[in-house]
Amino acid sequence: MGLTLTLKYRPSAFKEVIGQEHVTTALMGSLQSKQIHHAYLFSGPRGCGKTSSARILARSLNCAEGPTDDPCGECQSCRDLVANGPGSLDVIEMDAATHGLVDDARELRDKALYAPVQSRYKIYIIDEAHQLGPAAANALLKVVEEPPPYVIFVFATTEPEKVLPTIRSRTHHYQFRLVSTEILVNHMTSVLKKESIELPVSVVELAAKIGAGSVRDSLSTLGQFISASNEPGFDYEAATRLVGQTGSLELSRIFDSLLDADIAPAIAMVESVINQGSDSRRFVQDLLERVRDMTLLLAGRSDGVKTLRSYKPEVLQGIELTAQKAGINRLIFWSEVLADHLIKLRASLPPQVILEMMFVRMMVEPSVSKTSSDPTVEPVIKAPTERAGSRLSKPEVNQSHQTTMKRPSNTVGSLQEIENVWPQIMENVKVARRLTWTLLSTGVTLEKFEDGVLTLAFVNAGAAESFTRSESAEIFQVAVSRVFSGVKQIAITVGGIPPIQKIDNEMVDEEESENALSGENLLMKELGATVISTDER
Ligand SMILES: [Zn+2]
Repeated sequence: MGLTLTLKYRPSAFKEVIGQEHVTTALMGSLQSKQIHHAYLFSGPRGCGKTSSARILARSLNCAEGPTDDPCGECQSCRDLVANGPGSLDVIEMDAATHGLVDDARELRDKALYAPVQSRYKIYIIDEAHQLGPAAANALLKVVEEPPPYVIFVFATTEPEKVLPTIRSRTHHYQFRLVSTEILVNHMTSVLKKESIELPVSVVELAAKIGAGSVRDSLSTLGQFISASNEPGFDYEAATRLVGQTGSLELSRIFDSLLDADIAPAIAMVESVINQGSDSRRFVQDLLERVRDMTLLLAGRSDGVKTLRSYKPEVLQGIELTAQKAGINRLIFWSEVLADHLIKLRASLPPQVILEMMFVRMMVEPSVSKTSSDPTVEPVIKAPTERAGSRLSKPEVNQSHQTTMKRPSNTVGSLQEIENVWPQIMENVKVARRLTWTLLSTGVTLEKFEDGVLTLAFVNAGAAESFTRSESAEIFQVAVSRVFSGVKQIAITVGGIPPIQKIDNEMVDEEESENALSGENLLMKELGATVISTDER
């Protein structure tokens, strides 16, 4: 069913392409004014319509009435090139991902010299163009540089910056983008109408969420829901289970029990996630999103409800109560713990253990957790003018390089020298790899320096573990060697003396974790809150 919906609603003309108006309008304009280029580059995330649009461009160019922005649909070419049609001899699709296209490219170079068989243009659609090998690109380049008047190239790629510059520079570049949830929901609603099928709005929104900006993936998920909707009792909860998401009632139960210091339901949930082979990361993302929703509700943002999933009223009421009971500090604390564990799930530790420890940490009072500052007077959101130095303040990040170095005075030998150049070392680390820098910023002391072995003591066991797993020691060693010679090896221990002050934004790095949002980032993104500098500005 999913596949058929996707195929059935595949566009055959630019006016049918969903959510890419910035591209389709421009292309239609140039078709109207007969400004035809010989090489196009379509870039953008997967599933957002690049290849479909390349085919539509070919159809528009080769229509007997064309080139036109509105193919007639009647001529031979239009019928051949309609979505799911038989295709045309003069429109040749090649996938550079399959085998670098070396032989194909040579053949193409030779064949391109022949005029099209039955159409106006001979059009080459080259998918995954960034994977064209240098040999293939060279073979193509000659044709791209001096194309016969009837040859047109459309390169499609998810990574335009990796397309060989010699090719890229000769193309007209059109950037496709992810489609907004709102547009996806509208589109699917109209599809359902045409199919005379009714589904709850929340289910359609879930399909859009799973589709994550892709019309194709959204429709495919919608098809899955339509098939399941024949079964009695199909609702949002059933749909979430179908796509491996945690149901909203189950999520409510987990948070409520954590607040009652009862960890049993959470542990049971972990067991069912593991036993069902569900995606642990998605489970944590679901929890994180719920915390986000609770934060929005608590903040009482008037348009907050719009950004929330369409909860049933009774569920929404429960969520609001839980949010009030938890309070903003705990919600922030939860979001930090969750974001933190989202990263940890990347390590090859058993996910069950990680998830269980996550809930244990969420259950304890934030004040006795590893967060060393007093969370009841939450310093995460505060006026930017507030200076470090008060009990509540966090240090500016660049100062924290020094503050992590507070250490008893019994340092021996050149350990002191390393401490002296610590800010420079941290700068080097930051440039080399941000994750390593973030891990070091969670609270690290220099334990000792003996026989060329520099021992780092992490306050946070999780950070130490990630440091080792992410091969950060090598990065760190290189960074050290730039300003200090003689360090031959880095050793890691846990249990350093907690630094006097530390950065709150541990473990989370945007580059390393595209999905994870720290508490601060979440709030900044959702509420527009001002966050003290956890990022060096
Ligand atoms: Zn036509």
